Amino acid sequence: MSENSKAGRFKVVIDKAACCGYGICAEICPDIYKLDAGGMVYVEEPIVPQGLEEKAREGAEACPQSALAIEPI
Ligand code: SF4
Repeated sequence: MSENSKAGRFKVVIDKAACCGYGICAEICPDIYKLDAGGMVYVEEPIVPQGLEEKAREGAEACPQSALAIEPI
């Protein structure tokens, strides 16, 4: 049985303790990943806008610290 009725609904989960501020995520997907004054990642809105799922995942996968995850809501 498919649970994909909410296809495209994902959220960003951040492990702040793991983030080392490389900024790669923000470079790949600046619409989602922002860097604070200390260079650490944050998101204004954890729910990934439709159409940005692929970029969000790319950014998460590129994180050398594995600090980012994209999870279904
Ligand atoms: S790529 Fe990873 S370590 Fe770098 S800023 Fe983003 S979350 Fe932090």
